[in-house]
Amino acid sequence: MAECNKCGTSIDADESYDYQGKALCEDCYIDVMNPPKTCDPWAVHLAKSTVIQEGAQLTPLQEKILNLLKEHGALQAEEVTAKLQISESEFRNAFATLRHMELARGFKKGMDTYYTLFNS
Ligand SMILES: [Zn+2]
Repeated sequence: MAECNKCGTSIDADESYDYQGKALCEDCYIDVMNPPKTCDPWAVHLAKSTVIQEGAQLTPLQEKILNLLKEHGALQAEEVTAKLQISESEFRNAFATLRHMELARGFKKGMDTYYTLFNS
């Protein structure tokens, strides 16, 4: 007869779960294996890097914008919309995602706002 390392309940050997070298009862084992998902910055971070690595979440328009910024460097919104023949709201929607994924960013130059690749 062993005791759960966490709550102290008596557990039979065949009901004990090994977690990092400690014996736990089933309830506590489930507890440590399924921590609450809320407010977990690390999980959010992981989710974000996965998206970037796979690159699969980009829409064709978002890829076009990235390629355009790669070729031309920083551009203003009007230049992007003119070159890609899209509306300003289409651009803003697509760009919001790119910025969220840290693939692109906007910056101010005098009175104007320019858009460029995140790492440039
Ligand atoms: Zn326990």
